[in-house]
Amino acid sequence: MAIFISTKAPANYRNNLVNHNFKAELNMMNDADTHLQEIKDRVLAFAKERDWEQFHAPKNLSMAIAAEAAELMEHFLWQSPEASRSDMEAEKLRAKVEEELADVFIFAIEFANLTGIDIAKIIDAKMKRNAEKYPVEKAKGRSDKYTEL
Ligand SMILES: [Mg+2]
Repeated sequence: MAIFISTKAPANYRNNLVNHNFKAELNMMNDADTHLQEIKDRVLAFAKERDWEQFHAPKNLSMAIAAEAAELMEHFLWQSPEASRSDMEAEKLRAKVEEELADVFIFAIEFANLTGIDIAKIIDAKMKRNAEKYPVEKAKGRSDKYTEL
């Protein structure tokens, strides 16, 4: 059963549901059925409940994103690309990698919450710029930077 909480619903209604971790309690959060705004609200509520917003300067959050990205990379340090692919099949490693990837997303979302950045809007704009820089006919199958295409 999918639960959709419209972004048009009053913010306090959305936040009440998020604060009660309604979908999380029912293990119903997944990419297909979860609105990005719900995740942004939940991450914000978590920080508010702990009075952690005082630590959330753009500088600190940008560094936290990098630190968590480094924790993610640490699991693959010195591995070949092939081994990093096959090792992701191992449940134990996969669970650790999932945790670090979640940390990266959470701090990125904290950054967007703090600065009022609309994540969907900036990804849309960046993907359009990337498509212009890397047209399929020039970039397909190549890893070169756009200046070298
Ligand atoms: Mg971490």
